[in-house]
Amino acid sequence: MKIATKCFINGKWVEANSGKTFPIYNPANMEVIGHLPFMGIEETKVAISTAVEALKSWKSTTGKERAKILRKLFELMLRDKEKLAQLLTTEQGKSITEARNEIDYAANFVEWFAEEAKRIYGDIVPSIKNGQRLFTIKQPIGVVAAITPWNFPIAMITRKIAPALAAGCTVVLKPSEETPFSALAIAELLVEAGLPSGVLNIICGNASEIGDALTSSHEVRMLTFTGSTKVGKMLMGKCAGTVKKLALELGGNSPFIVFEDADLDKAVAGLVASKLRGGGQSCTSANRVYLQESISEQFIEKLKLEFSKIQIGNGLNEETNLGPLINKAATDKISHLIADALAKGSKEVFSNNNIDHLSQQSLCYVSPKIIVNKAENLEIEQTEIFGPIVSVFTFKTEEEVLKRANNTNYGLASYFYTENKDRIWRVSESLEYGLVGINDIALASEMASFGGIKESGIGREGGKHGISEFLEEKFMVIS
Ligand code: NAP
Repeated sequence: MKIATKCFINGKWVEANSGKTFPIYNPANMEVIGHLPFMGIEETKVAISTAVEALKSWKSTTGKERAKILRKLFELMLRDKEKLAQLLTTEQGKSITEARNEIDYAANFVEWFAEEAKRIYGDIVPSIKNGQRLFTIKQPIGVVAAITPWNFPIAMITRKIAPALAAGCTVVLKPSEETPFSALAIAELLVEAGLPSGVLNIICGNASEIGDALTSSHEVRMLTFTGSTKVGKMLMGKCAGTVKKLALELGGNSPFIVFEDADLDKAVAGLVASKLRGGGQSCTSANRVYLQESISEQFIEKLKLEFSKIQIGNGLNEETNLGPLINKAATDKISHLIADALAKGSKEVFSNNNIDHLSQQSLCYVSPKIIVNKAENLEIEQTEIFGPIVSVFTFKTEEEVLKRANNTNYGLASYFYTENKDRIWRVSESLEYGLVGINDIALASEMASFGGIKESGIGREGGKHGISEFLEEKFMVIS
């Protein structure tokens, strides 16, 4: 895949007005992959007015016309799957196998919303008066600002831009400064797919200036954001001035509960997969592992065995299943959480320490660890770890573990393992989360709605509701 050197506004590849650029690093070896324009308020305003102009014709296209372009993008993503995966691993670090999975996952959103573009239905509503007809239509909300994170550099983009474009909206997208090349590669494919100029614009650079320009604009009618709860709250406040519609996919603090009646092998496999997905840097990653006392030792022994098989290294090597974390700040945060837990009586019962040779290339590698905690309300229990660290707590009763699992301001993903059918219903309905995995960790698919409650977000992405976020309903009455 050709690496972009410019941002994308009005169908053209453009530099920053100041000529300034910023470097993007490969976390596996800290080599500079390339540079991109460092843009700010002025360029963002240009991108917004371009999107406003493009909206005039894009919103009037038929669903079928929009579907054709999105379907083409889906095919192009699969055609270029290997090149996109190599690029993604190079800038993000995840293993190449996972990067390939992400391209499939990301392309599936494009395929799904291409199909949904043709199914934007209104309603005919019964009237209480003769001679009157009532109905509703759905129309695109307008210009959408999209801000995305680095942990799924392509999927978090297609999960937003595919429904936005399918709905007839135009978009100004700001990807994370850590992983902008993947976003720009999608823009290139959209040009090939026939997307008209100005319908999608991508800007990079000064996050806070770009954020201010997007949130303060009266012409931007919606902000769709995926990222941390802290930044999400701040942007939410800034959108109040123009009463923008908000769709927020924020942080999580997922409990992973294993009851004594669980299939332990299945539960261990689920936990390992959850921790290896993006090196544990996923919003749905198992963050607090609660083991019922009677099975905790047996579970930990099985887990140690599986963790000792992990192959850490540069994600581009086929045998690697755990790449580096995104940056040094991510590894520092983990070191801090572990040090704090150990100081409060926790024990490190496993560490795959075979990373000395890797640390010479980059400080972004972290060895997978298992920490067994005694105290409650540790920082490691209340914070997203975002790394390959299993933090274990034990519990005695179902009632106790549910209380602890729900004792957080987050409400994105939760998991539990049991073979007891009554418990399945009781626990699923008691967990205060938008997503519940029961003997399974695969919570995300283009066909189901994804999203959190409490401080994990507002709205749903994917599924039959995903496109509605980008539509306004208009009620009409005719006498
Ligand atoms: P982040 O620091 O909140 O950044 C997310 C995006 O916001 C990036 O593009 C970032 O730009 C941008 N940003 C930062 N400050 C901004 C500002 N003042 N104005 C406008 N934009 C600003 O989050 P992250 O570290 O990239 O991602 C990890 C977080 O995302 C985790 O908490 C994870 O749980 C969450 N997440 C949630 C979901 C979900 O579906 N719920 C999915 C994936 C990730 P720069 O990178 O350029 O600074």
